[in-house]
Amino acid sequence: MKTGVFGGTFDPIHNGHLAIAEEVRSQVDLQEIWFMPAGQPWLKAERPISPAAQRVQMVELAIAGKPYFKLSLVEVTRPGPSYTIDTILELRKQLKKAELYFILGWDSLLSLPLWKDALRLITLCRLVAIPRPGIDLPDLTVLEQSIPGITQKVIMLEKPNLDISATEIREKAAAGKPIGKLVPKSVADYIKKNKLYR
Ligand code: ATP
Repeated sequence: MKTGVFGGTFDPIHNGHLAIAEEVRSQVDLQEIWFMPAGQPWLKAERPISPAAQRVQMVELAIAGKPYFKLSLVEVTRPGPSYTIDTILELRKQLKKAELYFILGWDSLLSLPLWKDALRLITLCRLVAIPRPGIDLPDLTVLEQSIPGITQKVIMLEKPNLDISATEIREKAAAGKPIGKLVPKSVADYIKKNKLYR
């Protein structure tokens, strides 16, 4: 079983996340992908994050009707900062036979040397890295210096290459601008109804 794990703040989940998950599923031939909202995203500590319950509900709405997309509450139910290594160790216990593929954007791949136990992380799962407009192709020879072996463990995809971010959506929602093209309708309705990002 080839299983994807897609961690994120998902504040909110957007069409970019969903397009990435679909593309990785087909290119890497994954049977399922677990969306994993972060409990406390330690790399984003500088800004207020929406409550986990709301971020979880938006993920639920966004993946509804796609049985190969699943929601994992492993990070939101674990106290303390959401370190990916702890999550992958937990998933390895839960999904004993699965081969795990952790999906991340190039911006996140570049920050990998800062992650807790990055060296151990790449012994437990493969990484699938997605291009992101404005982010240069990560230089694997540079990453090798801090995380030896990474080159063999990362699958670099060439697409999708989508200029969309949760930051842009929060800013648009705050300014009362339309976000209907950036998130699924159910998520746009949820943001409106709950007055998020105002
Ligand atoms: P923010 O704008 O708040 O920083 P975000 O849009 O980057 O949010 P996250 O929930 O932080 O969304 O992202 C989760 C993961 O998805 C990260 O690995 C991030 O790199 C990746 N990701 C998000 N949007 C894109 C995109 N448009 N292209 C490639 N990767 C993306």
